[in-house]
Amino acid sequence: MSTPAARAAELRELLSRWSYEYYVLDSPTIDDAAYDRHYDELVALETAHPDLVVSESPTQRIGSTPSERFTKVEHVAAMGSLEKVTTDEALFRWAEDAAKRLEVDPTELSYVLEPKIDGSAISLLYDDGVLVRGATRGDGARGEDVTANLRTIEAIPLRMLGDAPSVLEVRGEVYMPLSGFHAFNERLEAEGKKVAPNPRNAAAGSLRQLNPEITRQRPLSIWIYGSGYGEGVTFESHWGMLQWLKEHGFRTNEHAERIATIEEVAARCAEWEHRRVDLDYEIDGVVIKIDSLDYQRQLGALHDRPRWARAYKWAPMTAQTTLLKIHVRVGRTGALNPWAQLAPVEVGGVTVSSATLHNEEDINRKDIREGDTVVVQRAGDVIPQVVGPVLPHAPGTVPFAMPSHCPLCEAEIIKPEGEAQHRCPNRACPSRGLEALINWVGAAADIEGVGEQLVRRLWELGLVRSLPDLYRLTLEQLLDLDGFQEKSATNVITSIAQSKEISFGRVLFGLNIPEVGWVTGQNLARHFGTIDALLAASMDDLMTCEGIGPDRAEAIAEWFADEPNRSLIEELRELGVRLQASEADRPKEGPLTGMQYVITGTLEGWTRDQAKAALEALGAKVVDSVSKKTTGVIVGESPGSKAAKAEKLGVPILSEPDLKVLLGA
Ligand code: NAD
Repeated sequence: MSTPAARAAELRELLSRWSYEYYVLDSPTIDDAAYDRHYDELVALETAHPDLVVSESPTQRIGSTPSERFTKVEHVAAMGSLEKVTTDEALFRWAEDAAKRLEVDPTELSYVLEPKIDGSAISLLYDDGVLVRGATRGDGARGEDVTANLRTIEAIPLRMLGDAPSVLEVRGEVYMPLSGFHAFNERLEAEGKKVAPNPRNAAAGSLRQLNPEITRQRPLSIWIYGSGYGEGVTFESHWGMLQWLKEHGFRTNEHAERIATIEEVAARCAEWEHRRVDLDYEIDGVVIKIDSLDYQRQLGALHDRPRWARAYKWAPMTAQTTLLKIHVRVGRTGALNPWAQLAPVEVGGVTVSSATLHNEEDINRKDIREGDTVVVQRAGDVIPQVVGPVLPHAPGTVPFAMPSHCPLCEAEIIKPEGEAQHRCPNRACPSRGLEALINWVGAAADIEGVGEQLVRRLWELGLVRSLPDLYRLTLEQLLDLDGFQEKSATNVITSIAQSKEISFGRVLFGLNIPEVGWVTGQNLARHFGTIDALLAASMDDLMTCEGIGPDRAEAIAEWFADEPNRSLIEELRELGVRLQASEADRPKEGPLTGMQYVITGTLEGWTRDQAKAALEALGAKVVDSVSKKTTGVIVGESPGSKAAKAEKLGVPILSEPDLKVLLGA
């Protein structure tokens, strides 16, 4: 048995390392529930032995030191962490204690309850209504300046609406909606990159990119939940502040509600434990705040955790069961994804019989083996995960290894240099067709009433083996299947027919073209407008489209040159699937919508990324190569050959002062 001092030191070291991995590297190596268990153990040890509390203990500070990669900024008011409660009793004790400290009757207090968004905390500073700075929370006192990245998020107003106070700092949580997260991981997978373990991680990583263009391509949004500082504006209650923020253009959460009693708050917390699966974003609890700002000021904070708020977190839903088999599924781009078949077990009221296993590296790090008893968890996400094995391993088990040959077509599996994913290299592998269909009915076309199960069934029966087959499916064929009545079959046929009208960008995403995810599909649709323009595009033409470099251009050109793909397009054309851009493909409007710029040389007042983000915020596109379509080339010091090309093509040349005028800066 280690002494309390030795254990505390061990916990401090473990927690500090995990925190660093989580906050700085955006790459956690353990799950939150395990982190919280160790954290709570350290708190318990420090409470029992106050002499063990040292200033560098993770319990004495929040978050993590800001990364060196970004300029550090001092927050105008500290950004705290939240003390958590996990039971109604602890919630009631908190409310009683607050009333006692305030010397008021507990019935005097009212509360605001908000979902606790599992994303990345940020602070936005507005000077006379204009966004001048955005920063991550960092260690609470100092964060990282990520203004250029935050400016790319459409939901963040660059100028607030209505009368603006002279200074206002607002804070909120940047998050990645679940729908966007799944498409984002699809894209990473298609590009052979490591997928993000969860939306929180994806949001935090996206915010801390050195190139704002990458952030812009990520499906991020924000919920604003408060303000830490203001000059020229005062609020009386948190609820009043939320209403004011909403009226001034900030995205406040629609589920926030004002509640009169703590008993009712407890009832709502219990409801949210089940309701959270209906949201398109992950929450890791709910936050309860005492509404009166005067009471908030009187209560203050303890160790940067406000006494006027609590996070109500639910215990993660876990269960133990046997891992029967590790299966490997081949994705639409050939990537191999392992998943666990489990002996059915109830986790938080839902029967679970399969769970994700991320990738080979993750399985081997946790040493999860077929035949083991494993811990299965359903956290915020609806997709269950295998947390790890219950050691010791079951007798006779062996470490996991990826199959050497594709489970479907038997081609030899490859792991390309620098990629995290194993792949089946066979382009004609049947699994790709099936997965492409699943991707089409789900992420790309989102066809109502047609899900993975039905597609698998139709595939197995040989009725639908390709996209054109799907559009040729008849009412009679469906009626022959068990479980279909006239009405349900008609609905399915109607929604399949309606899906011919999806936007061109979605079609391009759904065609399973290598390197073309959701965002690239949109970019191609907007840039080229019709399938014929794309079919005729050379690699050089492709590179004039936003977000397309030589590698991507080559992969796309190769795909369009392939005869089977060209005939697939012709079949889809005959079937009436939309193959040209429409209103739905149009980008968000701004004063520079429709304009296309190229930047070359070094600018004095901006980095190139800042200039790009500022132009894009006004609706312009910034691309890498000059063509006749270019509206103007912005030329800084020591420009490259692009300036010469612009001159040759007669494209206007803009200087840095011209850019200033253009941006109204
Ligand atoms: P916290 O749980 O203390 O909560 C504070 C944060 O909640 C705020 O900074 C804000 O970003 C967020 N929030 C979301 N919605 C809000 C709302 N409506 N009102 C106010 N705040 C809202 O968060 P923390 O200090 O960032 O993180 C602690 C947690 O992080 C731990 O419990 C642990 O689960 C996890 N963690 C995990 C690892 C790991 O390695 N897995 C490492 C470190 C921390």
